[in-house]
Amino acid sequence: MFLQRTAIAAARRAAVSPVVKRSFSTSLVRLTTPPPSGANEGKVKKFQEIKTEEDLLPPGALPGTVPTDLEQATGLERLEILGKMEGVDIFDMKPLDASRKGTLDNPIIVKSFGDEQYAGCTGYPADSHVTIWLTMSRDRPIERCPECGNVLKMEYVGPQDDHHHDHHHGYEEPKTFADFVRPEYR
Ligand SMILES: [Zn+2]
Repeated sequence: MFLQRTAIAAARRAAVSPVVKRSFSTSLVRLTTPPPSGANEGKVKKFQEIKTEEDLLPPGALPGTVPTDLEQATGLERLEILGKMEGVDIFDMKPLDASRKGTLDNPIIVKSFGDEQYAGCTGYPADSHVTIWLTMSRDRPIERCPECGNVLKMEYVGPQDDHHHDHHHGYEEPKTFADFVRPEYR
């Protein structure tokens, strides 16, 4: 209580008569002065140094400067940026294999970190039909393009110990006609 009151009093005093009176001209000088370059460089952890989630917290920008992505991105976005700086494509953003048409015996593999993954098929050869979006999930990893028959299969590469996937708390995906097609007809 005592601390709060003194803080408010101090704030009022500062508002009435700021310690440093800044004029318009000094602000202009501040804006045109370039920020000291590389001042944050020592605080930015390299891709190889990332071990825990805390390592993915950014250093932030210096006062008076606009933060760059490297200075303010957090979490997975930060990991992606740090990886790119080292030439590591952590999310594997390469286009899907378009050198052949996927079959049920030999599907086109789509890696996914999540429970569900969308992939666009444009046919074989690529761009021979409009993009048709297919939805794969961990429960239903194989999907077939209704236009060209291309078969995609999701390969889950995310964390194995996530409890979220514990059978969806009794939820079961509604059945479709595809569930009743005999395996030999697929
Ligand atoms: Zn297709």
